[in-house]
Amino acid sequence: MPLPAAVCFLLGPLLGPLLGVLVDRSVERETPEPFLRCPQCSQRLPVPFPVPIVSWFARCPDGHRSWRYPVTDLGAGVLFAIAGWTFGWSWQLLPYLIFFAMLAVMSVVDIEHKLLLDIFTFPTLFFGLFVVLALSGPNDFEVGIAPALWAGGLYFVFFFLANRIYPPGMGLGDVKLAPSLGLFLGWLADDSFRGVQITMTAILVALLSGAVIGMIAQRSRKAEVPFGPFMVLGAVVMIAITNPAGV
Ligand SMILES: [Zn+2]
Repeated sequence: MPLPAAVCFLLGPLLGPLLGVLVDRSVERETPEPFLRCPQCSQRLPVPFPVPIVSWFARCPDGHRSWRYPVTDLGAGVLFAIAGWTFGWSWQLLPYLIFFAMLAVMSVVDIEHKLLLDIFTFPTLFFGLFVVLALSGPNDFEVGIAPALWAGGLYFVFFFLANRIYPPGMGLGDVKLAPSLGLFLGWLADDSFRGVQITMTAILVALLSGAVIGMIAQRSRKAEVPFGPFMVLGAVVMIAITNPAGV
């Protein structure tokens, strides 16, 4: 649906500064403060905090400019737009906007620090369980709850085994992120078989896109590529093309 998608896209730049503060403070494990910092040297940016887009052009006192703020704002905007497009003005839009905001923050931290932090992966998992168990209708076991649990379980088992078999390729953070992706993806499936099907496809999209970008990065001798953003990509692509049950 174009209108909800456009409106939700605007939430990206609006909420971007808030997401940026979460990224900064989560890595340094300090209380969130209402201003943005330079990702390179941690100095305060001369930006009036809640004003969107100003951060794209800001330089810290040492003159650093960062790709992070435009990428966070636009990346989150694209994720929110996908949620708006998929769910329209239905009540399911809100939980998916919150979920996608978490995914945006986790992706930025993973790209910058090669870390998926427990303070994001575990709350996202609990939020996913809450959404699936509390917001499903009383007759939705076979349509919503069972496929979500199957998908979450399958995601977890796949990435857990990948981590056991090849720890340098798949970190524990990826294992902790995996089940929440499955919950939010499987919840949209009409039955458990479909839940398993879209989960396998999402994992395949993640592996293929990760492998392609990994090879390109290796050719240009860039540092190791974190896998979290590709897991997010696979899940979001499949959420966008799965016809949600009941919407
Ligand atoms: Zn700086």
